[in-house]
Amino acid sequence: MSEKYEELRKSIISDRKNGYDRISSEDLAAMEPYCKDYLGFISECKIEREAVEWTIKEAEKHGFKPLVPGMKLVPGDKVYGNGHNKNVIFAIVGMESLDNGAHICAAHIDSPRLDLKPNPLMEDSELAFFKTHYYGGIKKYQWTTTPLAIHGVVSKKDGTTVTVTIGEDDNDPIFCVTDLLVHLSADQMKKPMAEGVTGENLKVLLGSRPLTDDEGKDRVKFHVMKLLNEKYGLVEDDFLSAELTMVPAGRAREVGLDRSLLAAYGHDDRVCAYAAFRPLLEISTPRKTAVCVLADKEEIGSVGISGMQSQYFEMFMGDLCDATGASLRRCFEKSFCLSADVSNAFDPLYAETCDRSNNTHINYGTGIFKYTGARGKSGSSDAAAEVMGYVRRLFADNDVIWQTGELGKVDQGGGGTVACFMANRNIETVDAGVPVLSMHAPMELVSKLDTYMTYKGMKVFYEN
Ligand code: MN
Ligand code: MN
Repeated sequence: MSEKYEELRKSIISDRKNGYDRISSEDLAAMEPYCKDYLGFISECKIEREAVEWTIKEAEKHGFKPLVPGMKLVPGDKVYGNGHNKNVIFAIVGMESLDNGAHICAAHIDSPRLDLKPNPLMEDSELAFFKTHYYGGIKKYQWTTTPLAIHGVVSKKDGTTVTVTIGEDDNDPIFCVTDLLVHLSADQMKKPMAEGVTGENLKVLLGSRPLTDDEGKDRVKFHVMKLLNEKYGLVEDDFLSAELTMVPAGRAREVGLDRSLLAAYGHDDRVCAYAAFRPLLEISTPRKTAVCVLADKEEIGSVGISGMQSQYFEMFMGDLCDATGASLRRCFEKSFCLSADVSNAFDPLYAETCDRSNNTHINYGTGIFKYTGARGKSGSSDAAAEVMGYVRRLFADNDVIWQTGELGKVDQGGGGTVACFMANRNIETVDAGVPVLSMHAPMELVSKLDTYMTYKGMKVFYEN
């Protein structure tokens, strides 16, 4: 570099460095315990209901109470709303009136998986199976020959609800979808990857042992149902009113000789959900009211009663405004939302799918995205320059390591988040979140540094 231009070059040309070259020793020390806590959360919360229950329990330990209509709230009060056990909103009332807006972090707690069909149980060739219908976007072949656990609830005829979890305890059995041996795969291997394993073939093997002292038909299926009956009191018709799902079994782990990465099922989007939730247990009364939304159904379009499009958010925020004497419409107009969702980390194995300089990279910090979407930004909320400017200043002033990017090359594909549904409500919104490798696979990877910096970013956003 010529000496003449050294100073000028430094001041006007961007020089992006790896997060490890920039992180402070305090942050480096705080990163490890945070990631350890996160591994506990992600290992225990694999479906939305579990995340709702877990976060409410933690919040109650820290003084949060259910928000009920007619309540009067003052700065520092901590409340939550449980949306049908599948989405949840937490708030800490700030010093300023809600007429000046809230600082909202919105993440989702559902992840792609194999849901059981309404009539799931079947026997074929003296093997018992659950039929499934996958939820969200998956590459079907990835879900064969991987250990699976069953999670969910069954609403029984007598009105009681039973929680079912099998496959997580070391003494539990696990389940799996078989795949064809390579020796006989001559035809299968010629198919496009999207067709090599079909949705109907994602049948989960449940058992193989018939009831030998029984002379009826389908003795393996009967045996499996008998075991479910003994353990949970279930009968086959109970599947009609159940939400049971197959998710990857086992706990989240550290990855790499340097232990710099984390492997888990469902980092998308519980890595951001935890980052959005955790600061509320730590911050004191903020200037603006801090709101954390953990929504369901993002993976299928944020629909339904528990998705981000649901009026449940209006109801909670309306009650919050009533409780503090503010107007909901004014509140939305002045609010700011970080739509906290994961992005794709640049993967050198598939470099051709991304624009290297417009993609997030592992260990370059939390990602901030002006827009998402596909084919000309469709489905994006496209944050304004001033909105990006605000986040940029906030993060620079508080030593949050961050980066920007977009989801792959133009016209390569794309994806959306809850951002557009917040923006539709007249709330300034920008996408922010952790870069992920192997997104939507049964095992996803994130880096500790990006995970921690996303939490730090959400925390300073609530605090400022
Ligand atoms: Mn997501
Ligand atoms: Mn997703």
